[in-house]
Amino acid sequence: MRKTLYLKFVLAYFIFGVFSFIMVATFVPNMTREQLIREKAEDLYAEATLIADTYASGLYASETDLETVKAQLDSLAVYMGSLIRIINPSGRLVLDTGAPLNVEDVVMIEGFDPTVTIGSYYRIDNFFDSFESDMLTVLSPITYNYKVRGYVVIHYDMEKIRKSCDSLVNISYISLVVLLLLSLIILIFFTEIVYVPLRKITHATEQYAAGNMHYEFQVESDDEIGYLAACLNYMASQIAGAEDDQKKFVANISHDFRSPLTSIRGYLEAMLDGTIPPQMYGKYLEIVLNETERLTKLTNSLLTLNNLNTKGMLLDQTDFDINRIIRNTAASFEGTCRKKSITIELILTGDEMTVHADMDKIQQVLYNLIDNAIKFSHHDSVIRVETSLKKNKLFVSVKDTGIGIPKDDLKLIWNRFYKSDLSRGKDKRGTGLGLSIVKEIIQCHGENINVISTEGAGSEFIFSLAVAAENEDED
Ligand code: ADP
Repeated sequence: MRKTLYLKFVLAYFIFGVFSFIMVATFVPNMTREQLIREKAEDLYAEATLIADTYASGLYASETDLETVKAQLDSLAVYMGSLIRIINPSGRLVLDTGAPLNVEDVVMIEGFDPTVTIGSYYRIDNFFDSFESDMLTVLSPITYNYKVRGYVVIHYDMEKIRKSCDSLVNISYISLVVLLLLSLIILIFFTEIVYVPLRKITHATEQYAAGNMHYEFQVESDDEIGYLAACLNYMASQIAGAEDDQKKFVANISHDFRSPLTSIRGYLEAMLDGTIPPQMYGKYLEIVLNETERLTKLTNSLLTLNNLNTKGMLLDQTDFDINRIIRNTAASFEGTCRKKSITIELILTGDEMTVHADMDKIQQVLYNLIDNAIKFSHHDSVIRVETSLKKNKLFVSVKDTGIGIPKDDLKLIWNRFYKSDLSRGKDKRGTGLGLSIVKEIIQCHGENINVISTEGAGSEFIFSLAVAAENEDED
């Protein structure tokens, strides 16, 4: 496709050039010749009429003699580049500017017929065989006393007309060549403005079709083609971004599934090899059950998150005891905490605190926040989960004394797949989706989440929840 468009244009250009030449070669010479003959004939006829009315009629009226008239007509003929003759109706040549005056010899034009020009004021021939080549001839009668006494005949060599015609036709050809050369500019413009950008765009689409969505190209023009290129570039970058997101998303899902599976496996292995005595099975099986439940919930959350872009999150809001959820979630980390000798301290407002929210999703928020707090905490440290009631809002804080978050990263941690450089060493399996899920869940509830963190000192994540109507009444 790429080559043919250009070839088509070049071919069209050549066809245009060839046709222009054919048209010029066919019509221009004939038209120019006709026009030149018509103009010349008109001039000659006007001259012939003038001569017939003045010098020649004077001759027949015996006002002037033949020599005077000849001298005058001679100079006129030289001036006009023509041959002037005066011929009697019988065909006798009275005067000829092409020959000296000779009264003795009677020169006759054989077959002279003054009616030959009837229907046209000029004729082109060898004038009754009196010339070897063709002549343009005009004829005007000389009348005296209402009788035709003779004719003024002016001949003009057709060779001269042919020469002027040729030079005019040559000018036309030169003009045509100049015009064609100038129209080459269109071809150059076409190449620069349309063809080159189109080639770039076609090449880019080939790259995109081959799956190279990161291919970038530049078309520097602010017309439709430039706009098309920009749109294409944008589209490709969007697709590339979506592809990357997709990959990271899958990686993240695997990560989120791997951690509970690891903990389940850890407990089960410990039971098998006797690390956990049979009398403790009940407690640990409970934890294992919790983990499997979490896996199910996680699957649902991921599906919800996946639908988030299109539908927004659908919440299943109920009144539930947040304290119980916090305790359960903290308990599910017992194994992990023991390994790092981390203690989770719970400072909860009241025995029961009923909030109105989507329980599963809030559990996921807590899980992600505590999971992060443990991941980024040092050994032998304390993580504090605290709730505080302010008006009809319950604030839940998850505070650790771990590595903290650099100031520049504070805004970025909420982005999907973001992981700070600092965290990479500590948490190799993290994929950066946890906090974005947290943020989206909290925002869907119409609540807020904030982070206070000092690098090297620790972090505190605080989110709000709506207190259920029954609690509000108690206040
Ligand atoms: P993940 O933990 O899977 O990497 P998150 O979205 O949960 O993803 O967290 C994003 C980033 O925010 C982490 O990689 C880490 O750099 C930072 N972060 C989150 N929580 C903490 C915390 N409690 N302490 C220090 N850094 C944290």
